[in-house]
Amino acid sequence: MDAGTRLFRTALLGLAGNRAARKLSERYGMRLGAGRFVAGETMEDALKHAKRLNDAGIAVTLDLLGESIQSLEEAKASELGYVDLLQAIDRDQINGNVSLKPTQFGLALDPDSCYDSIRTVVREADRLGLFVRLDMEDSPWTDATIDIVRRLHAEGLKNVGTVIQAYLYRSVQDVKQLSAERVNLRLVKGAYKEPASIAFPAKKDVDSNMRRLIRTRLESGEYTAIATHDETIIRWVKSYARSRRIPRTAFEFQMLYGIRTPLQESLAREGYTVRSYVPFGRSWYPYFVRRLAERPANVTFIVKSLFTR
Ligand code: FAD
Repeated sequence: MDAGTRLFRTALLGLAGNRAARKLSERYGMRLGAGRFVAGETMEDALKHAKRLNDAGIAVTLDLLGESIQSLEEAKASELGYVDLLQAIDRDQINGNVSLKPTQFGLALDPDSCYDSIRTVVREADRLGLFVRLDMEDSPWTDATIDIVRRLHAEGLKNVGTVIQAYLYRSVQDVKQLSAERVNLRLVKGAYKEPASIAFPAKKDVDSNMRRLIRTRLESGEYTAIATHDETIIRWVKSYARSRRIPRTAFEFQMLYGIRTPLQESLAREGYTVRSYVPFGRSWYPYFVRRLAERPANVTFIVKSLFTR
């Protein structure tokens, strides 16, 4: 990553946490171009997109957007929203599961109440035969997120997993340990701003650690969700799996809604399991800004779209 790109990314990721910018943007709704990455503001919008993806052979994970909430009432609203969502997935026979962010359930405000709320969601999912993924947020929450999953497993709720980020130095150890504990993992490169004391600053090191994590996980024999749009890594996974006789049922590819859609469709046609991460809801701003920070060209796309409608 050159210095200009790094500066651009840092500035945008700073904006993701800015409350004033968030309020202003969310007031102007999807008109800012967020609709390219967010499947609408309501559950009905998201279910419509989920069905369309299912029809193309692509599974989904639905994310009711929200993070870093300010009150426990908001946490309760997230809990109710997710219970509704799980029931809708079951009712509409969507091939899908859900992803949630622990700070959306009050991890920063009251960890005990956050745990209880997430447990309510995971129990409901368990009752319906569905799976819940705890997304991984920035590093202050890494241990707490893993602990929530471990506690739920210890209570017999095994239908919950989490995410490990390749940019963190600690991640190889985490993948080894959590694979031994049979925790379902999604592997990603990592989307937040982290200091060099804990995370690889250079993209090439993140990419090579991503391969190391994927290899470690696949060799453990545990199911592996590989979440990337990086075609070099995807090609490498396909040939690595072939050469090690790892069956296609041992892993899945995951990508974000609205990104590399033709690639998602072609992998599904080839017979790979593909899951699209479908975010929806009114609190779309931080998610949207992280997508812009990942690729400078997205900002150009959004600016152009503002002037062409
Ligand atoms: P990159 O090397 O960044 O990108 C490879 C190529 O993909 C780029 O050249 C570009 O063509 C395309 N691309 C990548 N990003 C974009 C974009 N925003 N817009 C358009 N094209 C793009 N991160 C977390 O920290 N925690 C999570 O819980 C988490 N969950 C995720 C779930 C899913 C299903 C996915 C796909 C990603 C998730 N991420 C999460 C984000 C992830 O960490 C990366 O920030 C993101 O996926 C970009 O990295 P990449 O692997 O696609 O590779």
